[in-house]
Amino acid sequence: MTHNEIDQLVKSFIIDAAQAEANPRIQQIVLRLVSDLFKAIEDLDLSATEVWKGLEFLQEAGGRMELGLIAPGLGLDRFLDIRFDEAEAKLGITGGTPRTIEGPLYVSGAPVEQGFARLDDGSEIEQGQVLFMQGTVFGANGQPLPNSSVEVWHANLLGNYSYFDKSQSDFNLRRTIMTDDNGRYQFQSIMPKGYGCPPNGSTATLLGLLGRHGQRPAHIHFFISAEGHRKLTTQINIDGDEYLWDDFAFASREGLVPAVQQITDAAALAAHGLQKPYASIDFDFHLNAEVAEAPTTEVDRQRPQA
Ligand code: FE
Repeated sequence: MTHNEIDQLVKSFIIDAAQAEANPRIQQIVLRLVSDLFKAIEDLDLSATEVWKGLEFLQEAGGRMELGLIAPGLGLDRFLDIRFDEAEAKLGITGGTPRTIEGPLYVSGAPVEQGFARLDDGSEIEQGQVLFMQGTVFGANGQPLPNSSVEVWHANLLGNYSYFDKSQSDFNLRRTIMTDDNGRYQFQSIMPKGYGCPPNGSTATLLGLLGRHGQRPAHIHFFISAEGHRKLTTQINIDGDEYLWDDFAFASREGLVPAVQQITDAAALAAHGLQKPYASIDFDFHLNAEVAEAPTTEVDRQRPQA
C-alpha cells in the first residue's frame, strides 16, 4: 500500500468509526501513531510473526514495570529534555544548571529535613565510602534561595533503590532537604555505585539485540524547587566512573560532573566522627525564573508514594 492509502485506511479506523464524541487530542495522537506504525510495517515488510512478537514484548515489558527503563534506553527521556531545552532557549531561558532525566525510581513522601540530612541508614558504612555533598541553591537573580527544596535520591552499593528494593529500610538514600537562611544544603551519604538494567529483563533483552549495554554511571538524582522558579530535574555523575560518558540512558551532561575531593585531614575526619577518609562534593544549583509561556517542568507521571 502507499502511504496515502494507509492514511485513508487509518482515518477510516480511527476517525470515521467514531460513533460518540471523541477526545480530539487523543484521537489526533492515536491517528498519527497508528498511521506511523502501519507505514513502518509496510515499508519494512514486517511479517505477522514480527508484529505479534513486538506486541508480546511490550506486554511483557509492561508487566515487569520496565517501560520506564526501555524509554530512557531508547533515548525518549533525553529527547524530551532536548525539547525542553529548545523551548526554553526560544524564550531566552538560559544559564541555569542543566537538566537531565528523572528516571523511573523517584518515590514521594521522603522525610523533610532543614539544611542538612543524612541519607543512608548506616548499613553500608563499612563497605562504602562516606560522602558529604553540599552547596547553595541560587535563584534567577543570582541570589541564594533560602527554604528551597532539594529532593535527593540515589542507589545503594548494589545499584538498588529503596522502596523498589524491599530489603532496604524505608526511604534509605532518599530525603528532602530545605535550604537554610543562606540557601545552603548539605547531606551525608554513601558514595553510590553505577548500576545496570535487570540482567534478564526486557530492557536488557532489547539492548542486547541492539548490540548495546544497559549500564549507568554512578549518579545522584535531584529535584530542586523554589517559589517563582522553574523546577529543576537533574543528576550529578560521579567523576571517574567507567561509564561516565557511556550511559545507556544518555543522561550525562557537561556541567553535571563535579569534582570529588578526598578528605584525609585528621581534624576533618574527627569533626564528623569518621576513621576513614571521606569524599566531598561541592555543587551549586542555579534555577531559572518561571515564565508563564514556557512548557511546565512539573511533569505529571506515575510516582510511588511511600
Ligand atoms: Fe538512578
